[in-house]
Amino acid sequence: MNRTTGDAASELQLNLTYQHGSGYLAPYFEGLLEGRAIASHCPTCGRKRFPPRPVCPHDRTQTEWSRISGNGVVVSVTSVHTALPFAAAAADFKFVLVAMDETENAVFGRMQTAADDVAAGTRVRLAGLAGELGHPSQAVQFTARSE
Ligand SMILES: [Zn+2]
Repeated sequence: MNRTTGDAASELQLNLTYQHGSGYLAPYFEGLLEGRAIASHCPTCGRKRFPPRPVCPHDRTQTEWSRISGNGVVVSVTSVHTALPFAAAAADFKFVLVAMDETENAVFGRMQTAADDVAAGTRVRLAGLAGELGHPSQAVQFTARSE
């Protein structure tokens, strides 16, 4: 049976809850939550990467886990007012690209508080999770490092 509804519409709200496994990246995500930087380390060439890679892109060797200092330098900053994925409310954020010490790649994250005064060249350190966690990758949070 067909039924014509014209322009009528009904607003529906759907909620879905499920367990999202971390898989290979579990040590990385567990470290982030506690402010520990767990990188991948290539036993062949010695390169470290954070965020980690399961296989070294330089020589295709399977990597191992290695704890690094969690210190780095800001490469770029973007200030925005937005809602993070899986979060309800919009807020001010400073997203940062950080070149971590001891590694050759850079990681995308955010300053733990938008009030932190940072710019390219500012020394920062991984800080651990503060606030609501929408997705484990949102635990890449930094604070300005006082030296
Ligand atoms: Zn390698």
